[in-house]
Amino acid sequence: RASNLQGYAPICLGLEDFYIRRLYLRIQDCFGRPIASAPDAWFDVVERYSNDNNKTLKRTTKKSRCLNLGSYNYLGFAASDEYCTPRAIESLKRFSPSTCSARVDGGTTTLHTELEECVANFVQKPAAIVFGMGYVTNSAILPVLMGKGGLIISDSLNHNSIVNGARGSGATIRVFQHNTPSHLEKVLREQIADGQPRTHRPWKKIIVVVEGIYSMEGELCKLPEIVAICKKYKAYVYLDEAHSIGAVGKSGRGVCELLGVDTADVDIMMGTFTKSFGSCGGYIAGSKELIQYLKYTCPAHLYATSISPPAAQQIISSIKVILGEDGTSRGAQKLARIRENSNFFRSELQKMGFEVLGDNDSPVMPIMLYNPAKIPAFSRECLKQNVAVVTVAFPATPLLLARARICISASHTKEDLVKALEVISRVGDLVGIKYFPAEPNKQ
Ligand code: PMP
Repeated sequence: RASNLQGYAPICLGLEDFYIRRLYLRIQDCFGRPIASAPDAWFDVVERYSNDNNKTLKRTTKKSRCLNLGSYNYLGFAASDEYCTPRAIESLKRFSPSTCSARVDGGTTTLHTELEECVANFVQKPAAIVFGMGYVTNSAILPVLMGKGGLIISDSLNHNSIVNGARGSGATIRVFQHNTPSHLEKVLREQIADGQPRTHRPWKKIIVVVEGIYSMEGELCKLPEIVAICKKYKAYVYLDEAHSIGAVGKSGRGVCELLGVDTADVDIMMGTFTKSFGSCGGYIAGSKELIQYLKYTCPAHLYATSISPPAAQQIISSIKVILGEDGTSRGAQKLARIRENSNFFRSELQKMGFEVLGDNDSPVMPIMLYNPAKIPAFSRECLKQNVAVVTVAFPATPLLLARARICISASHTKEDLVKALEVISRVGDLVGIKYFPAEPNKQ
């Protein structure tokens, strides 16, 4: 499995990366067309269609309409929704597009307080604080929680916003092998002084940072094991649920619900509103004391303009739909749909002979391309056949582990997915990325 090869991705972009970057450019040269100058291989400027839940994109230069297999629109709440959209429009009229103020300077409307209560209730924590951007939520919160004398132990494949937040905090950073609890335990044991496993000396505090679903891997976090280790060594758990909140779990409550972890055992729950909720912004949920502390001290709360009111309304409304509080069963249907769609798509790709990373139930599905030179070819050929996929490569992934990253949505129909599978299969043969024998009749 590709993910086994990844080992320790360095958390700091250091000298090695400089040389890897040079090597990457040389590889591109060897294979002909440099990757960065293949304009027909990428998404260009796109327009959306208003009534199809962000399912298709119109490429403005090519005038073609593509099935969108790259958006994080997991539940199909982006674009128009019969419950959310009229309410967002109403809030635009009532509160305007922006508060033009920080939270403490008149930028807290009734929608902001309602949103924080709604999020806390949804993720099952006593309190929550919201921010205008998911990225900033990680990069601004970690420096508030941690500082010199603290230790952050971070999964080797954590998102860049976590990496930057950790670096900016001034705390010592150690990286553990991706999603490997035994290695986390080894790192913890090494960092705790004099064989006294129940103390944190010489650290003031230790935070272990993981993600619910890894965005480049499609893998579910081994949260039950990680939580048990953190309890044993008295380390705090920080969980980024950008890709899992709203997308997995019986009632959409994320990986804790899916994997049977008590939310009381996760100290800091972070998530974004840019995926399952079709909005923007991010949240931190935790104890009342933690949230109060962040409200008094976090610069991104004190000095940044608060989240846009229509965006806040969109989140409140989509959570209501997910929980069935709109008086329909649409939320439950969406959750069932994304699970069925994801499991169907993943198993069909595997039967065709692709190497697909990630776990069942995860809507994130990386198809391994490995060779960076295959990236533009795969993307271009899919686009030509009106399927838009996102490809990812170094530095977002290790150099020789390039991949196409498919994101499945509840708004995709079975027909959409079958059509996309036919295209991907043809392109897979053309580009040579079916690394396993196909099952009969699945060419
Ligand atoms: N955390 C993770 C794990 C992410 O994948 C992302 C972005 N996709 C973010 C945080 C930042 O979120 P946003 O795009 O909402 O700013």
